[in-house]
Amino acid sequence: MNNPQEILAHCGKKFGSHWYHTQAGGGNISFKNSDHLFIKTSGSTLASMSDPGNTVEINLKEFNKIIGENRLNSDIQSSSATVENWLSSFKSTTGKTPSVESCFHSIGKPFVIHTHLVSAISVASSVKAEKIISEVEAISETQITWVPYYRPGWPLYRAIYERFFSNESGIFLLQNHGIVIYADTLEEAEFLFNNTQTALDSWLGRSSLPQALVDFDEITTDVFEVKSEHDILTYYANALTPDFVLHFGPGYQEVDSMNFEGSTGLYRFGDRLFIAGYGSSADGARDILRQQLQCCLDISKTGNIRFLSGNACQDLISWGPGKYSGR
Ligand SMILES: [Zn+2]
Repeated sequence: MNNPQEILAHCGKKFGSHWYHTQAGGGNISFKNSDHLFIKTSGSTLASMSDPGNTVEINLKEFNKIIGENRLNSDIQSSSATVENWLSSFKSTTGKTPSVESCFHSIGKPFVIHTHLVSAISVASSVKAEKIISEVEAISETQITWVPYYRPGWPLYRAIYERFFSNESGIFLLQNHGIVIYADTLEEAEFLFNNTQTALDSWLGRSSLPQALVDFDEITTDVFEVKSEHDILTYYANALTPDFVLHFGPGYQEVDSMNFEGSTGLYRFGDRLFIAGYGSSADGARDILRQQLQCCLDISKTGNIRFLSGNACQDLISWGPGKYSGR
């Protein structure tokens, strides 16, 4: 398989068809040759990469020039603004912008797969993550590099870049976020992903894809009650991942009525939980809620859950979901 579009369509389908691998517009996959980076557009799902309109081609020399000039800038705010504005002003032939995670896809090897794999987030959101990773490394027989939490986009790129050249396997686990795999060939990328997922799942005692633990009942067109047999309020009071913050804020909001007109988000009314204002995006919202509940239950078995800090949530909110949409 040599055609970039075919490669992206194949990987998008493989890693974007089940909520366990990635949720809503989360995750991004790319292929690069010496001249161009081919990557998912912002706001589209991995599974929709089979549509050429949902992928974009970036001139790698121009992109690397912007990145190289800004990597030396110790002022993260100003370098973030420069690089992320460059990306958001870039338009594909169909007028779409590249994923804001394009920065870390510019590094190193030709194939890069980033997903919000549930077992990866489970381990990476435990206070014992680094200890667990060393045990997972023993199972997978590969090096897994731990990356502490940084906001997606430019700050996360810098964190991965700093660790990239001391990593031999191409596997990175991102705190409260997911997994990134770098590989020379498609076969290697798929092997590394599968091998690491198997090791993470095995450490968690999981041998098959889990059943979804959350569902919705529709109350009105745009208001859905979140249903689960688990005591879910505990697990949605705080945000586990950047995706959660950008969809719902730092945790559910308590309300004293069911009047959600004009509002979008996750709400608690008494002991009931609702999402409102999502319309056709409710599927993505449901998958993010499924992911967070599964991760919280996984972590509960292994140690304390490390939710995102208040500062990290505020940083994401002020950064803006518009920029992040599509990761
Ligand atoms: Zn991500």
